[in-house]
Amino acid sequence: MLFAAAPCAPARRGSAPVSNRSARTARAQLEQGDSEPAAVTIRAGMLLDGRGGVVHDAVVTVHGGRIERVDTLGFGAPRPRITYNLGAATLLPGLVDAHVHLGWYFTKRGRLHAPGDGDTPEESYQAIAANARAMLMAGVTTVQSVGGPEDAPVRDSIARGVIPGPRVLTSLQPIVDPFLTPDELRQLVRRRRDQGADVIKVFASSGLGGDVAQMLTDDQLGAICDEARAVGLRTVIHAMNAQSVRAATLAGCTQVEHGLSAGADELRLMADRGVYFGPQVCLVFRNYLEPRPMFERSGFLAATFDALRRARPDARAGFTRAIRTPELKVLFSSDAVAGAHGRNADELVCRVREGGQRPMDAIVSATSLAAGALGLGDRVGTIAPGFDADLIAVDGRLLRDINAVRRVTFVMRAGRVYKRGDQ
Ligand SMILES: [Zn+2]
Repeated sequence: MLFAAAPCAPARRGSAPVSNRSARTARAQLEQGDSEPAAVTIRAGMLLDGRGGVVHDAVVTVHGGRIERVDTLGFGAPRPRITYNLGAATLLPGLVDAHVHLGWYFTKRGRLHAPGDGDTPEESYQAIAANARAMLMAGVTTVQSVGGPEDAPVRDSIARGVIPGPRVLTSLQPIVDPFLTPDELRQLVRRRRDQGADVIKVFASSGLGGDVAQMLTDDQLGAICDEARAVGLRTVIHAMNAQSVRAATLAGCTQVEHGLSAGADELRLMADRGVYFGPQVCLVFRNYLEPRPMFERSGFLAATFDALRRARPDARAGFTRAIRTPELKVLFSSDAVAGAHGRNADELVCRVREGGQRPMDAIVSATSLAAGALGLGDRVGTIAPGFDADLIAVDGRLLRDINAVRRVTFVMRAGRVYKRGDQ
């Protein structure tokens, strides 16, 4: 819920008092992010720090876009002036989604956008910017888009503060060509680095629309992940079957996605090698199956939907196996495609309700753990002094009611407030 003009809104340098502006202007400014020149304090009934810690009656002090201190209003403690009093809400780090497709959207003709479909570059940019904004307002403050070249202009506009959105890391164009030699693949990794990729995305196997078999050889995967490491980039590997999961893990890649038929041996191997694992349980399946006509008009085959429906029980069972594998780093990666941006947290709800994950583990997987997977573990995903002030609040007691993660009432990214429902 978005309050345009809350009575305790902080005064802002160079702007008229909130009460003097129209609600429409205030709302537009809020969505561009209120800047906070002075220190601000945020109070909430419960704080989850993103690493499994809980603070009751917490006050977070933010200054210069960073978290300065975290206090509790214990009995007899000094009562600081509160800028945003969030009442009984739960405050937590902004969510980090390690697998989205920022550039996917449905066009006004009711089809999945594709090159040459008549959309102008400006229309595409606006649609992708809308995806970014939807995710930010739903509490997602960092995303890893695996991805396409169309991500870059939106990533860069968000970074410059021109448009609202989560911090975006993108792979740009994924690596998919099984006919390249290992040396050519190494060159391609370096080219992506030069083009500005933040991460390398690789298709090690085909998808559910195909036979899910391994597509790149062990040598090809080894060359890609080795070269990426050498140039300081992480690797995210699309790997469906057990063989491709094993190959990506042994190749020293950073993150394995999907792993639908990964068995106990592959899960244990990933845990032993410290590989991050991103399975999906619900959102991506529902998101293809529910607006099925739009995907069908875009060329998706009936066999793909049958495969998706058949795969759901396996996905749920595989997820439960994964979270029961000791030391396996199972992270939040929604695989948000067209229609799913802003609903990312539905995947967390499902993981708890259908996959049997503890609410606290789900939150950690979407905060400090995912931040670590993205190489940002010392900057975001944790509420502690020195971290970026990426903070969200949800309406209710999140540990008792995971559904509260869908009710985001407050969003701050890097110290700027984009949404507030303070009391
Ligand atoms: Zn994907």
